[in-house]
Amino acid sequence: MKILVINSGSSSIKYKLIDMDTEASLGEGVLERIGEAKGKILYHSHPGTSRALTKKIEAPISDHSHGMEWILSLLTDAESGVIENRTSISAIGHRVVQGGEKFKAPALIDDAVTESIRANIPLAPLHNPGALSGIITALDMFPEAGQVAVFDTAFHQTIPAKAYRYALPDRLYTEAGVRRFGFHGTSHRYITREAADYLEIPPDKINLISLHLGNGSSITAVSGGKSVDTSMGMTPLEGVIMGTRSGSIDPAIISYLADNTGMSLEEIMTLLTQESGLKGLCGYNDLRDIHRAAAAGNEQAELALDMLIYSYRKYIGAYFAVLGRVDCLVFTAGIGENDSVIRERVCRNLETFGIEVDPERNRDLSDTCSIISTSSSRVKVMVISTNEELEIARQTQMLI
Ligand code: AMP
Repeated sequence: MKILVINSGSSSIKYKLIDMDTEASLGEGVLERIGEAKGKILYHSHPGTSRALTKKIEAPISDHSHGMEWILSLLTDAESGVIENRTSISAIGHRVVQGGEKFKAPALIDDAVTESIRANIPLAPLHNPGALSGIITALDMFPEAGQVAVFDTAFHQTIPAKAYRYALPDRLYTEAGVRRFGFHGTSHRYITREAADYLEIPPDKINLISLHLGNGSSITAVSGGKSVDTSMGMTPLEGVIMGTRSGSIDPAIISYLADNTGMSLEEIMTLLTQESGLKGLCGYNDLRDIHRAAAAGNEQAELALDMLIYSYRKYIGAYFAVLGRVDCLVFTAGIGENDSVIRERVCRNLETFGIEVDPERNRDLSDTCSIISTSSSRVKVMVISTNEELEIARQTQMLI
């Protein structure tokens, strides 16, 4: 069975065609600048194999429907294609960021599901409209394929009320729906399953702390295989320090800025989401630049690193208290998978928590799933490459 995974944003579409017999990618890529004069199209066929081939094209992509036509023509192209025609695609898995309280699991897409995703637009105004465009286009182009929506928020629907409610007047929850949703759920779910498999712990028994650390970051406490708390909140702005997002701050800072700087609410939100975090602290949001600057004596970069690591460690401490027993700590995503210095510093001096990292194992990762703790470490520390597309494809296959 071949499943096409679509991650459709407002002006981009990421795609991956997965052969479910081998779970390998047959073809993948990204379309960017949809609706602009010059669109960018990237396609890799048979990535990571001797037959690998890459295509980069610059051409206008008028809308999502045009984008999906490009994807189909690349996948079926006589020279670089990987399938004969559209009927070779059995199912399509769509990534949807916000499923609200309604979706606790993936959903087979019908009119009611499409309407519910539309109804959740106020909760994810930057993300759900793009996903919806991708879904509507795919329903039209692939009428025979099973289509499934996989929600980023679904894995976190097991979080208990004491952790998902904010201490605001009750009506703000019951009438306005203000609560923690959490994000990166597909990644945290994938990590949980991979760690359980690797450690040979039944998936419904594993307790772990999953650290998805990338440009956007979230940390999740998993008890018995279920999410019981997560650092992101009603929106992806809450929690740890991120590339350009502030993470948690005193909410009164917002009114202070409005009163004393003349900034509008919109300008303050842009500041908090796009100009803060690591970028706001030192001018760089990529860890590789920050390490270089810190090594050259840039004090702002050094402080940014210290603050970043401190913000991760505070959640680790909190989630030890939430979980009681922790089988493993898992690092994933751009920073988690690639930055051994951050991993070492995050885990430093945590022997009382049962955490001991082996410096050599931490430096030289053996596989896409590696243990970096010492043999005697009570809590296993792992690095697992996340694969959200594969998780979406697995859930799509399960449902259809
Ligand atoms: P993601 O959002 O998961 O794609 O992660 C992107 C972030 O990962 C970048 O902004 C970098 O901060 C970080 N990153 C990626 N590659 C490396 C690397 N080799 N070393 C350190 N950090 C990295």
